[in-house]
Amino acid sequence: MSSIVNLKEDKDLNVVAIKGMNDILPGEIETWQFLEQSAREVFSTYGFSEIRTPVPEKTELFCRSIGETTDIVEKEMYTFSDKSDHSITLRPEGTAPVMRSFIQNRLYNLDPVSKLYYMGPMFRYERPQKGRYRQFHQIGVEALGVEDPKIDAQILAMLHHYFNKIGINAVSLQVNSLGCPECRPVYRDTLIAYLEARLNLLCSDCQRRYKANPLRVLDCKAKGCKEATVDAPAVSENLCTACDEHFSQVQIYLRSLDIPFEVNRRMVRGLDYYVRTTFELVTDQLGSQMRLLVRRMMVWSKVGRAGLRESVLPSALSGWF
Ligand SMILES: [Zn+2]
Ligand SMILES: [Zn+2]
Repeated sequence: MSSIVNLKEDKDLNVVAIKGMNDILPGEIETWQFLEQSAREVFSTYGFSEIRTPVPEKTELFCRSIGETTDIVEKEMYTFSDKSDHSITLRPEGTAPVMRSFIQNRLYNLDPVSKLYYMGPMFRYERPQKGRYRQFHQIGVEALGVEDPKIDAQILAMLHHYFNKIGINAVSLQVNSLGCPECRPVYRDTLIAYLEARLNLLCSDCQRRYKANPLRVLDCKAKGCKEATVDAPAVSENLCTACDEHFSQVQIYLRSLDIPFEVNRRMVRGLDYYVRTTFELVTDQLGSQMRLLVRRMMVWSKVGRAGLRESVLPSALSGWF
C-alpha cells in the first residue's frame, strides 16, 4: 500500500513501459484469456501438449536456426549482453526454442512423435508501428518426428476448428509446397538465374540477398520486385516426385475433411527451414491492420546448422495476432 502512495506522491517519477510493449489491462485480458483457453481446448483434442520455454535464450540458437541472412537476424532481434557479457536474445519466434528443448530434454525418447503447442510473448527490436510491436504474442504448434501428409491436413483442420471456435469464419486458406532439401536447391539455382537476368529491376535489399536467399525476393513487398517476378518459375512446379506426391496427398486429405482451400503458387516463405507445405490463413474479419497470418513450416531442413540431430524432422505452424 505504501509503495502505491509513494509512486503517486513522487511527482518526478515518469516511468512508462518500453516502447512497443503494452500492458494488457482488465477489460482486454478477457479476450486474451478466451483466445488462449480456446487454443488449449482445441489443440488438446487433437493430441497436442503445451510446452513452455524461457523467454531469453542464447543468441546463437536463433542465428544458427533461423539463418543469418533473414531480416529477423539481420535487423530485428532483441539482443543484448548480460552482466557476464553473454549475448542474450529475447525469443523472436517459438520454433527454435521448442526444438532446443525437444533435443535437450530428449523428448524423442518418450514418444517418437511429439505434438506440442506454445503460447506467449515474442520479441523483435524493430521500429514500433501500428500492429507491429516489440513484444507481441504468438500461438504455435510443432509436430515433431512425423512427415506424413496426414499431419499437415490434421493441423490445418485443427486451425480451421480453432478459428471457428473463436468466431472467425471467413478465412481463406491458401496452401503451397516449398519442396525439400532434394528439390529445393535445384529450384533455387533456376530462380537465381531468373533473378540475375532482372537484377536492375530489384530493390537494393533483394539485389544484395538474391543469391543467399532467392525465395525471399518472391516474398518482397517492393513494387519493382513484384513486377520483375510476375512470371518467375514456381517452386510447386519444380518439386521432386516425393514432394509432388506429398502435396497431392495433403490436398486429398483436406478435401476429404471438407476444409476449403486454394493453392497459391506465389506464396513462398523466405526462411530456409520452411519445407514442403506452407500456408496462410487470411481473413479481413479483423481489419486490414490485423490481417491474420498463419504460417507453417514442415521440416527443419537445416538441422545441422543448429547442431541439432539430423534425424529430427519437426513441423510447425505458428499463428500470431
Ligand atoms: Zn522434394
Ligand atoms: Zn525486393
